[in-house]
Amino acid sequence: MRLSAFFVPTAKEAPAEATIISHQLMLRAGMIHQESAGIYSWLPLGCRVLNKVTAIVRAEQDAAGFNEMLMPTIQSADIWRESGRYDAYGPEMLRIRDRHQRDMLYGPTNEEMITAIARSYLTSYRDLPLRLYHIQWKFRDEIRPRFGVMRGREFLMKDAYSFDVDTQSARLVYDQVFASYLRIFARLGLKAVAVRADTGPIGGDMSHEFHILAATGESLLYYDAAYDDLLLAGSPIDGEALRALYAADAELHDPTACPVAPERLRQARGIEIGHIFHFGDKYSAPMKLQVQGADDRLITPQMGSYGIGISRLPAAIIEASHDQAGIIWPPSVAPFRVGLIDLKPNDRQCADAVADLKAKLEKTGLDVLHDDRDIRAGAKFADMDLIGIPWQVTMGPRGLQKGLVEVKNRANGERQELSIDAAVNFLVTHCLVTHCLVAV
Ligand code: ATP
Ligand code: MG
Repeated sequence: MRLSAFFVPTAKEAPAEATIISHQLMLRAGMIHQESAGIYSWLPLGCRVLNKVTAIVRAEQDAAGFNEMLMPTIQSADIWRESGRYDAYGPEMLRIRDRHQRDMLYGPTNEEMITAIARSYLTSYRDLPLRLYHIQWKFRDEIRPRFGVMRGREFLMKDAYSFDVDTQSARLVYDQVFASYLRIFARLGLKAVAVRADTGPIGGDMSHEFHILAATGESLLYYDAAYDDLLLAGSPIDGEALRALYAADAELHDPTACPVAPERLRQARGIEIGHIFHFGDKYSAPMKLQVQGADDRLITPQMGSYGIGISRLPAAIIEASHDQAGIIWPPSVAPFRVGLIDLKPNDRQCADAVADLKAKLEKTGLDVLHDDRDIRAGAKFADMDLIGIPWQVTMGPRGLQKGLVEVKNRANGERQELSIDAAVNFLVTHCLVTHCLVAV
């Protein structure tokens, strides 16, 4: 992609109302544009990040055995009256009346709709288990929308739902989703902490939230110091260690018992990026979802729901990964993996070398943003750092006379001079291999 043909309205300053760094940087990098309180357009650069986050979440949901579908944003009030939540949900629900005076609403979540869908099709225990998900915009009329897309009113969520014959198998899928969430957040370059949670208006008897630790987080968390050793110190975490932490946490079903010894208890602020619930028959019972059991008795499926705040994630990732100069994208969600800074776009030799390097990189599947603008070099360097491109290649007539380009790692600032072919090899190895390691 040529930057001269790509709409990235970067800015030196952020408006004063942006008080946290991720909001400031998203505005300065031209990722989002505010339409009204808590409602944003995603400009091309932001949209690419959102799509990359979505693709990772989608791949892991598919791998965990969930089927993707798409439910509408607008729902009928009737199904919410059946569950009893139409009145209970309160002013966060955006209520709408259509031309026939029917009560509608803009969905804040989809438990009712998915239960009604299941009720239309499920007849026997043989139809279970059922695992469905969608990625769709939600609306919650938050009392205080703030921090940009971190707490929006309209926001994109991945919400998954499970139906099982009994509690035992419902708990099994809960565990599978738990493990898959840890993989998702690792692939997004995040160190996520799982904590036992309140079930809130969704209801239910078991629930965990996934947070990243950040001073600007809106939640107060208490956690075992084991997380300090494992997660915060940055030491490698193997699957066994994570299972052990989870096992300790899963014993917390009795809300009055805190199994963490006081001297091991730590306190931190967190940003909630995911939330999973096992709520049994909270929706299936009032909405009369029943199927024939193996012994001819009717059974009520046991349900769970599993959310990830997709549009909150780019902001959460920036809170966790930035410096003075701007955003530092983890390669897996970077809007482009490589940035090419062409110091003399009007110089023939330079243009040919850039075209050659770009073609070689793109052939390997890497996405490249080529800054071909005829502006001063300093402004190009500043923009590339601001928008956080992980690998930056600077090419100019002086280096090219010696056959060399400069490759910079955005995360640690390390630079090296390499020939064009060595640069291609280096970038392919680093971008693709690093990505695979993170993806394991
Ligand atoms: P919060 O406590 O942050 O208000 P919640 O507990 O009400 O969130 P859930 O119903 O658990 O939210 O929704 C699932 C996920 O959707 C959350 O973990 C969060 O990442 C995301 N989310 C919730 N509300 C918002 C919002 N207003 N803006 C952006 N993302 C949101
Ligand atoms: Mg929640």
